Amino acid sequence: MNKYTLPLNTGSEIPQLGLGTWGVDKIDDLEKLFNIGIQCGYRHFDSASMYHNEGLTGKVLNQHIGNTVSREDIFVTSKLANNAHATKRLKPAIIQTLKDLQLDYLDLYLMHWPMATFDHGMQAYDLEELKVSYVETYQAMEALQQEGLTKAIGICNTNTQQLNRLLSECNIKPAVVQMEIHPYLTQEKIINYCKDHDIVITAYSPLGAPHRPWRKEESPVILEDKIVKKIAGKHQKSAAQILLRFAIQRELTVLTRSVNPDRIKQNSEVFDFALDADDMVSLLNLNRNFRGMNYSGALDHPDHPFREGIDN
Ligand code: NAP
Repeated sequence: MNKYTLPLNTGSEIPQLGLGTWGVDKIDDLEKLFNIGIQCGYRHFDSASMYHNEGLTGKVLNQHIGNTVSREDIFVTSKLANNAHATKRLKPAIIQTLKDLQLDYLDLYLMHWPMATFDHGMQAYDLEELKVSYVETYQAMEALQQEGLTKAIGICNTNTQQLNRLLSECNIKPAVVQMEIHPYLTQEKIINYCKDHDIVITAYSPLGAPHRPWRKEESPVILEDKIVKKIAGKHQKSAAQILLRFAIQRELTVLTRSVNPDRIKQNSEVFDFALDADDMVSLLNLNRNFRGMNYSGALDHPDHPFREGIDN
């Protein structure tokens, strides 16, 4: 499975399918995720300081590096927390992440949100620090790549207007843009933008993140969608496998997450079948611009990427 990679504009490669660690807080769950994941061929792992589990993740990852996998064989992403956007905080933040993950370098360091905020259980500093713009923060991230602390940089949860500013005001093009993408939020505009500018897109929450703590009872559940289930029946695959394959055929990298050994394995078995053109159209037609992650607590922030009226 790890032979399926996409080229990055840095000259290296990113495995198409990855495993995320959001909400995986117990060491035995992280052990399942990495032990079964590596056995099943996953080589791409997604972490973040704001997940508050990088110390435990590092303990587990460290048991594998030099044992079941070499450092060069795996692709590890982490993300800059919203409270560490002030330029003086960036280097200490990445060094803490590297220490926690027990790594010498990251393969990819992403700005988690293009807004400085003090929330998500993060320490608050001087309010002045919240005035820093995502452009200044990104410019400071460039130095981290130049110093070799990360091989590539990028951003999550953004829009094409913000990307335009980064491309015109910064020196290093983002290698990756990580966004929520699934059939209820198909994101054609930013995907096309990134393809035109040689930026790889990573789809997160491809199964609709049914585990998100703020999910409302009445919210649509993609894994239960009639069309998705019908396509699954036709290919004798599960709904989750169809959703992952959909992202792969759109030439995206895609992250899922599971702490269930059968599902970790099942989710890796998405390279032995193909959706046909009709399936792809049916899935694209399910779009309803439904966002599971809209960071509603910061909607009044001037750089909120998904504020009403913004054409993403
Ligand atoms: P996801 O993969 O859409 O959903 C994960 C959920 O689906 C878990 O509750 C999991 O339950 C369940 N699941 C997994 N495989 C399944 C299967 N085969 N059948 C049925 N249910 C299944 O969501 P996600 O965790 O939001 O996204 C993946 C990763 O992307 C995250 O872990 C994180 O690393 C990253 N991410 C990044 C951002 C960002 O802002 N940059 C935001 C969200 C996520 P079990 O664990 O019980 O199997």
